[in-house]
Amino acid sequence: MIHPDRRAQLAGNLGRVRARIDEALAATGSASRPTLIVVTKFFPASDVGLLASLGVQDVGENRDQEAAAKAAEASDPRLRWHFIGQLQTNKARSVVAYAHSVHSVDRVSLVNALEKAVAKEQERRAETGEPARTPLECYVQVNLADNPTGSRGGAVPSEVPELATRIDDAGQLRLAGVMAVAPLGADPREAFARLAAISADVVARHPEARAISAGMSGDLEHAIVAGATHLRVGSDVLGARPPLG
Ligand SMILES: *Cc1c(COP(=O)(O)O)cnc(C)c1O
Repeated sequence: MIHPDRRAQLAGNLGRVRARIDEALAATGSASRPTLIVVTKFFPASDVGLLASLGVQDVGENRDQEAAAKAAEASDPRLRWHFIGQLQTNKARSVVAYAHSVHSVDRVSLVNALEKAVAKEQERRAETGEPARTPLECYVQVNLADNPTGSRGGAVPSEVPELATRIDDAGQLRLAGVMAVAPLGADPREAFARLAAISADVVARHPEARAISAGMSGDLEHAIVAGATHLRVGSDVLGARPPLG
């Protein structure tokens, strides 16, 4: 059912999510506000436009085909598009044309593909006279599950140092930090505490790579306690998505 006043509905939902973030920050005594990335997958570009008019600058998408179409339609230059889903190497060229960041870097072959793709995109922009793009912000996605059934994707923790170094060495990429989704059936507090420890290891070697992308509608408070710098919130802002088939 389409809400008669979608903008008011989104404004109300956003207000409630922002209040939850404020409360969690107050409880932890943390002064730095995480960036709220509103995950717009399954919802139309018109919603992205409404969100932008409500002050949202960061939106997240997990499928290239959908994201590319929406980024073309809702082409507000203030918007930053965050790619947060499993990414095939043959989609890298498309993603770097619109994405500010990729939160789901989970293997060296993808780092190589993204590096080449950004270089090609820069060449294209130089030829057409468009301004160069900023380096692509990359997060190493970490699999925090103890067993395959809980996995939500990502590299296993032992693979993280190599991936971080490979991203840091790539000319067109900027290592932002780490990302994770709390494993299915696990306590998100434990999972995010592990992610914070992995982040500290990464920062010890790459001092600029301080970002921690963690926390969704159901567990954003736990992510804030663990020091999340970027929250990825979908359904609590946009409403329930159709179930995945
Ligand atoms: C869909 C998605 C989210 C948002 O989840 P909600 O529970 O709707 O807030 C966050 N992160 C990733 C990787 C996602 O795919």
